[in-house]
Amino acid sequence: MDYILQTNCLTKKYKNYQALNGLSMNVPKGSIYGFVGKNGTGKTTLFRLISGLQEPTSGDFTLYGIRNDSKNIMKARRRMGAVIETPSIYPDMNAEQNLKQQYLILGLPSFDGIHELLTLVGLEKTGKKKARNFSLGMKQRLSIAIALAGDPDFLVLDEPLNGLDPQGIVEMRELILKLNRERQITVLISSHILDELSRIATHYGFIDSGHMIKELSAKELDVVCRKCTHMEVTNTFALTHVLDSMNIEYKILSDTTANVFAKVNVTRLTSALAKENCEVLSIQEKDESLESFFLSLIGGGNNA
Ligand code: ADP
Repeated sequence: MDYILQTNCLTKKYKNYQALNGLSMNVPKGSIYGFVGKNGTGKTTLFRLISGLQEPTSGDFTLYGIRNDSKNIMKARRRMGAVIETPSIYPDMNAEQNLKQQYLILGLPSFDGIHELLTLVGLEKTGKKKARNFSLGMKQRLSIAIALAGDPDFLVLDEPLNGLDPQGIVEMRELILKLNRERQITVLISSHILDELSRIATHYGFIDSGHMIKELSAKELDVVCRKCTHMEVTNTFALTHVLDSMNIEYKILSDTTANVFAKVNVTRLTSALAKENCEVLSIQEKDESLESFFLSLIGGGNNA
């Protein structure tokens, strides 16, 4: 697999506070990577390090395969756009003027593409309205347009859904999906609320106390979090036989326990098992939601 960003045992110490503590993460090319952790766990710190706003205390990272201590790292960073912490916009300028300003900062040869960018983020009709009068969602989308001015193929967004109203969240999610699918932009997006990311993320990294607890794909997370029936029986060999004949998916956990991934008809299943001399000892519906999965990871500490 190709990775846009890989970090290796990255640490960052502020005076006496260890904000990142041996963080290793892998952001696959083409992914929407949800970087999830409670507030204060080091997400913004990582973004500052990869953007070059701060230097790591130890460890290293590669961006497009280029190590952070290489002289070519600046070139790699030019392919990256970032919106970190508060949106960096000029409040007394309208959306177009803000973008023109960014084009000038980047030394781009013409203002071509500004209208296209404004349309992309849904701000093409804001006319003379100054950014200070924009809603939070509009400000966020303007910041993304500014981050896209250099035509990056990697976009880093720090808590872009924070504080948005439900409509703003939908618009932001749609924009991120559009950037990823239509422009093939890899997106690294942080949030302290897993549920907000769950409709768009293709990969996840769970961070706690500056340390990566778990990385997994959305498909893997779906398997972990999907609804299932936990069964305890006298003999799982008989259970597999019966479930196979009913074409029901399952996972055997031990000689006597299994998770069954379907709503089971208890009477039918129990009588089919009885014919195989297998007794049902207990049946329990399990519904591991995303948030409780996240909490169970954090509760498990660094060893989970
Ligand atoms: P997150 O983005 O996950 O909310 P941060 O990366 O912003 O977390 O912060 C991680 C920890 O590092 C926090 O406890 C924060 O108070 C601390 N921290 C962040 N920046 C500094 C700094 N410049 N000096 C000292 N401590 C800091």
